[in-house]
Amino acid sequence: PLPKLAATDPTAKALAYAEDATKVKHAAFKPGSSCANCNFFKGAKGAASGPCTLFPKNSVVSKGWCSAWAKKP
Ligand code: SF4
Repeated sequence: PLPKLAATDPTAKALAYAEDATKVKHAAFKPGSSCANCNFFKGAKGAASGPCTLFPKNSVVSKGWCSAWAKKP
């Protein structure tokens, strides 16, 4: 599996990535959004973490969030 994305990663920082979406205070944050329901999340349904298109070298946590979040259609 891919190494877990670190909050210190420059792109993670730029996109305000956080591992706990429930604690996010960001202008772009929509209640209920998280990696699990993001269009860029490629992990298995119900998995605790998985790949994200925006972070090809890492895995992101399902309960995480970043400002590039886009609703899974
Ligand atoms: Fe999570 Fe989506 Fe951001 Fe990837 S793009 S880190 S899946 S919110």
